Amino acid sequence: MSRKPRITSKGTCALCKSTFDKSGMTKHLQSCMKKNSIDFSSAEGESPSLRFYHLVVEGHHLPEYWMHLKISSQARFGDLDGFLREVWVECCGHLSAFYIEREEIGMNRKFAHVLQPEMKLSYEYDFGSTTELTLKVVSEFKSDTKTAEVEMLARNDPPQIKCSYCNNRATRICTECSYEGTGWLCDGCVEDHECGEDMLLPVVNSPRTGVCGYVG
Ligand SMILES: [Zn+2]
Ligand SMILES: [Zn+2]
Ligand SMILES: [Zn+2]
Ligand SMILES: [Zn+2]
Repeated sequence: MSRKPRITSKGTCALCKSTFDKSGMTKHLQSCMKKNSIDFSSAEGESPSLRFYHLVVEGHHLPEYWMHLKISSQARFGDLDGFLREVWVECCGHLSAFYIEREEIGMNRKFAHVLQPEMKLSYEYDFGSTTELTLKVVSEFKSDTKTAEVEMLARNDPPQIKCSYCNNRATRICTECSYEGTGWLCDGCVEDHECGEDMLLPVVNSPRTGVCGYVG
């Protein structure tokens, strides 16, 4: 029951701007981060302000949307919430929450007090038309450069989504038809679509494409 045709997912490393398959990005980042003075061997016992986690976030049931993040061990879940809203999900100020095995984690908690390598978490934005994300802690490491609380390491390139009615690339989605798994529209087919302009949202690089009023 996929909403879209399967596509090989590629993404771009924010550190060196090279493109890799989704499956190769973790490995690439580990070597690319090393070149950027990030050390995986010695996080233990280091000053907390220089400790970071490598996190992978992806759309639940929408794995073609993914990001690799570097987050400070001293940052809080609320910082990550703000980042995810800004980059991926914010439409009209809905509620959101992080969970570990269905247990909600307070937005004020520090990552250092919660996260462990290999840990899996989930995130929900909007408890009505929910966008659900899954998060995985890849590793904990030390870096000599203190940066933002949450920093992008890599992100998927915009998926090439085909129009539901022809072979061209979709640029809009009809929110009326998207419940049936159709409604992806190219510039040409938009003209003939009967649901009306009000139902259309732009196709954007986010797992919230076509949901609520999300326009990127
Ligand atoms: Zn790189
Ligand atoms: Zn909304
Ligand atoms: Zn079309
Ligand atoms: Zn429609």
